[in-house]
Amino acid sequence: MHYEGNCIRPPSEAYSILLQVTVGCSHNKCTFCGTYTGKRFRIKDDEVILSDILFASKYMKRQDRVFLMDGDALIIPQKRLLWILDQIKEHLPWVRRVGAYANAKSIKMKSLEELKALRENGLGILYLGVESGDDEILKKIRKGTTAENLVNMGRKVKEAGIKLSVTVLIGIAGRERSLEHARATGRLLSAMDPNYVGALTLMLIPGTPLYEEYEQGGLELPDQREFLRELREMLAHTNLSRGLFFSNHASNYLPVKARLPKEKQEALALIDAALSGRIDLRPEWMRAL
Ligand code: SF4
Repeated sequence: MHYEGNCIRPPSEAYSILLQVTVGCSHNKCTFCGTYTGKRFRIKDDEVILSDILFASKYMKRQDRVFLMDGDALIIPQKRLLWILDQIKEHLPWVRRVGAYANAKSIKMKSLEELKALRENGLGILYLGVESGDDEILKKIRKGTTAENLVNMGRKVKEAGIKLSVTVLIGIAGRERSLEHARATGRLLSAMDPNYVGALTLMLIPGTPLYEEYEQGGLELPDQREFLRELREMLAHTNLSRGLFFSNHASNYLPVKARLPKEKQEALALIDAALSGRIDLRPEWMRAL
């Protein structure tokens, strides 16, 4: 497979065929993100993509999911993206689902009909980095969108019949705005109603603008208990019709996994138990991205 540079995928795509169809992220401006620093965004050549699909057709017959990397493969023009999905269907007929990262811009660039056509051709899930529902924070971290736009884009994905998985960032608002960020994010999630919510805890990456801000004293991070309080407040304000809210990523201090709405109170009680010291938290050295 022709992999270039730092390649990431969501934890739930760990066993998928990882097909790198773009290099980098077309936005590449978020202040906390160091994933694609130094990678200039481009769509890979059709011949390279096809040769990777043919390689997978010989050696990856047990993997029934494909994840399209890098940052936001949905930005690929419709005709080319349909061609990629067609090649997957033709050469990897055992694949049941194709997934990709998306951002507000790439979703906006596709009409509802185009998204439906992608779903009919195998695109089953999109992963959207929301980070916060607080417009002040979205602006500060240079997310390039607003909470309202994120809600509309998320709804559009769901309306097209594509599953939606979003990530939010605990700690991104710093200590001062922690609870406002938590409430606004809970409200955004309730309005968007995604299928999955992954709450990650912020880890500062050297070389990113946010890291610099922290180093220069412009950002004060919540402590462990404040991180947990933020998570609790966010979950308390999140009402999903039917979805999974989890914070079991390796970056988190307390693994939480709750089917909403049914298990919300149970999850809140678990966080309360951790806040009162009845449950141990993951030690700092065990946290990772
Ligand atoms: S859109 Fe995603 S991949 Fe691109 S810079 Fe922001 S966080 Fe990183």
